[in-house]
Amino acid sequence: MSRHYDVIVIGTGPAGLSAATLLTKMGLNVLALDEQQRPGGQIYRNVEGAGEARLNLFGPDYSVGLELVNEFRAANVNYEGGASVWQVEADGRICYSKDGKSSRISANYIIAATGAMERPVPIEGWTLPGVMGAGAANNLAKEAGLTPKGKVVLAGSGPLLLLEASILLKKGVEIAAILETTDLIPPADSVTKLPQALMGWKLLYKGTTMLWELQKAGIPHYRGVRNIRALGADALSGVEATVKGETLNFDADLLLLHFGVIPNTHIFRQAGCQMVWDEKLRYWYPSCDSWGRTNFEKIFAAGDGCRVHGAVAARHKGTLAALEIACCLGMIPESERDDLAEPVLKALRQDNLPRPFIDAMYAPKPSHFTFENETVLCRCENVTVGDVRKVLDEGVRELNEVKIITRCGMGPCQGRMCGPALAEIVGEYLSLEPDQAGLLVVRPPLKPIPLSEVAAMDLGDGGTDGGNWLLDKK
Ligand SMILES: Cc1cc2nc3c(=O)[nH]c(=O)nc-3n(C[C@H](O)[C@H](O)[C@H](O)COP(=O)(O)OP(=O)(O)OC[C@H]3O[C@@H](n4cnc5c(N)ncnc54)[C@H](O)[C@@H]3O)c2cc1C
Repeated sequence: MSRHYDVIVIGTGPAGLSAATLLTKMGLNVLALDEQQRPGGQIYRNVEGAGEARLNLFGPDYSVGLELVNEFRAANVNYEGGASVWQVEADGRICYSKDGKSSRISANYIIAATGAMERPVPIEGWTLPGVMGAGAANNLAKEAGLTPKGKVVLAGSGPLLLLEASILLKKGVEIAAILETTDLIPPADSVTKLPQALMGWKLLYKGTTMLWELQKAGIPHYRGVRNIRALGADALSGVEATVKGETLNFDADLLLLHFGVIPNTHIFRQAGCQMVWDEKLRYWYPSCDSWGRTNFEKIFAAGDGCRVHGAVAARHKGTLAALEIACCLGMIPESERDDLAEPVLKALRQDNLPRPFIDAMYAPKPSHFTFENETVLCRCENVTVGDVRKVLDEGVRELNEVKIITRCGMGPCQGRMCGPALAEIVGEYLSLEPDQAGLLVVRPPLKPIPLSEVAAMDLGDGGTDGGNWLLDKK
């Protein structure tokens, strides 16, 4: 028997938590699903199980998640952790897998609050054991209290790189170097955006304090770094990079890479939502109105999944989507929706004040990346940058054609790890912006699941939709 809800919320980070809590409190039948075992999302990962020491380590920006999760628990939202959504349909149906069993359920509205992911940038040696994302190290620390051993190098760009460095410093980890690809001279447009950013000074104060602490600890910190290479035969042994034309070498047991975060858009793309290319930040996001409604009436986007604005903004965006849906379902009139939304919109505007400055400071530039022919681009299918350039040499001109011929983006991660760089490589070769080179098509299942699980599924009242519904997508 299929299950039907008023609203299904996918993702229980700040956006999903605020949306699901508010809608449940309003008396709606809401189901919140998340592939993590516990609510919290990326920033508040495992905050319920953190304990005092971990709460102190990650500071007040982490502890605030406890209030949000407690409110969610107190509201008694129907919640399933360890539940991976692998298909979303525009008519409000979804498929998800939990404990080895897949189910197909439906709702009047879906809020996809799937957050952000680290921007994957392939560098030479990034597949070696000992190289991982800085966000992944952050996740392991929050999830399991793990601390890296040995010498650590952090490389890339963006506030989260420095945040991770400052956390490692507090833990007493030996940081061999911080290698930032950010330009030596701040971009001109960051200067013009500084006065507005100063009106939302808390974030800037936090960043400046972090930088000061890293400097005080004497950690070698370079900007304008290029050509980062992870060295080693079977595992990482060192890191090489150039700074102002000079080659630097560092011994390292762990290299943490981070090149900023981009919206996690796979669900929107698989459902067929209209996507927009942000030329400055070089990422795709789903087109939506100020409530988060996509081009599909029933699908809403909330949080970093529809543009990376951080945890506080994510929480507000979740509330706005919930208010509009509550209004659509007749729980509140438009006037009440607007009254309740007013302070949220004001808080959102206040929170966004520093954002243009941060974006200008850390906006990725194609010149920051060098893609070498020998570098493995698609880790799932073992496709190199050179393999891609070879088919371009042969006349292929579109991203999905490159995918079909090389299998780049066809593996279990469905292009999550190679897609953004593939677009940059194709765009660079054809002298086009990546959006003109196309966007990888995403098909269900979004996450690998055994065929036996699909075969055993109860399709509910919708039946089989004429048979091959799993594959019958654009
Ligand atoms: C690895 C990483 C670490 C980060 N750490 C920090 C930090 O320490 N401090 C900070 O200020 N910002 C951090 N950020 C940025 C931070 O993620 C956001 O600002 C904030 O968490 C956004 O909230 P959200 O609700 O939009 O999404 P998130 O908090 O990212 O929550 C999204 C949730 O959706 C779930 N989800 C995604 N796809 C599916 C699916 N198919 N099925 C089921 N569930 C799904 C995920 O498991 C996740 O729990 C981090 C980002 C990343 C990528």
